[in-house]
Amino acid sequence: MMNTEDRIARFVPTWVRELAPYHIEHADGMVKLDAMENPYPMPPALREQWSDVVLRTELNRYPDPEARALSAALREHLHIAPELGLVLGNGSDELIHLLCLAVARGREAVIMSPEPSFAVYRITAQSLGLKFVGVPLASSDFALDLPALLAAIERDQPALLFIASPNNPTANLIADGHLEALCQATPGVVVLDEAYYRFAGRTWLGEAARFDNLLVMQTFSKFGFAALRVGLVCGPKPWLDLLQRLRMPYNLSALSQAGALFALEHMAHFERQVATIVAAREDLRAALARLPGVAVYPSATNFLLARMPRGRGQRVFESLRGAGVLVKNVAGAHAMLSDCLRISVGTQDENKTFLAALSHALGS
Ligand code: PMP
Repeated sequence: MMNTEDRIARFVPTWVRELAPYHIEHADGMVKLDAMENPYPMPPALREQWSDVVLRTELNRYPDPEARALSAALREHLHIAPELGLVLGNGSDELIHLLCLAVARGREAVIMSPEPSFAVYRITAQSLGLKFVGVPLASSDFALDLPALLAAIERDQPALLFIASPNNPTANLIADGHLEALCQATPGVVVLDEAYYRFAGRTWLGEAARFDNLLVMQTFSKFGFAALRVGLVCGPKPWLDLLQRLRMPYNLSALSQAGALFALEHMAHFERQVATIVAAREDLRAALARLPGVAVYPSATNFLLARMPRGRGQRVFESLRGAGVLVKNVAGAHAMLSDCLRISVGTQDENKTFLAALSHALGS
């Protein structure tokens, strides 16, 4: 008789059995500064309009499998060139997964990204048994180490090169000239992940048509709609056609489609909030820079990366958590990030609470 372990050992590949679960801290009742969300709930007038949209949604029917209304509105809102393809996903997480699936042919396929960067690139590659190659950023300022990256591309011939710009968790943008060089050198496709572009004021979407191996990815999550799970990727049609064929027919729920359309209709409101968050980010950065022993990095995003005094990062993180403030301790993610915390910009009150708790943690 085979027991459960035997069956799993026989049929589930080792790389799946060895996956570490993706850990997300519970944040119930806490000041939540760990996930780069927009901290502002919708105002009552907008909430009312949203509830009308919800009431009109036919939950007994499947959603539009092609999300036609949303795709058309996005093409208009983002000025997507007609010759480019567009695919929507259940968050950009799903799109990352689809991209890796498209090139999945075991250890032959290399997925590459600078590191430290968004962990899902590595996790997804590993979950499909693909080879992941991380190329270190410059340790002084987290800039792209172009010569190192070009050498790695030459050596490992990546199918996909993920570049998050602005990058998570280092908060900086890629230099313009670097992207061109990377597209030229990469034998497969460069995926430019612009999850935070609204806070940087820089996007490559308008220039994407100039490249034949550049895909630009964006998301609704950071400017106010993390709960919807809507991401998009844009680029040369032949690549996007592959993703269309790979995705599940109803990957975007009716509420997600309706919610994303609603977001676009009220974009002016959310653009104002983005401006508020950017201003608050700079205030928070100045306040952090004044704290003795704390180093804070420049940011083109809605979060800040800050290094606590040497050897004290974990204790500061725990002290903040004890005071009801949840930030992200990113020290474990890469050797370059020792004692680093990633702090999402909150409301004015939340930022104040955080700063008070941090001063307390540093003083004790
Ligand atoms: N890309 C980057 C660089 C991110 O930081 C994140 C979220 N942490 C994502 C993609 C995922 O976004 P989504 O909510 O659209 O899946």
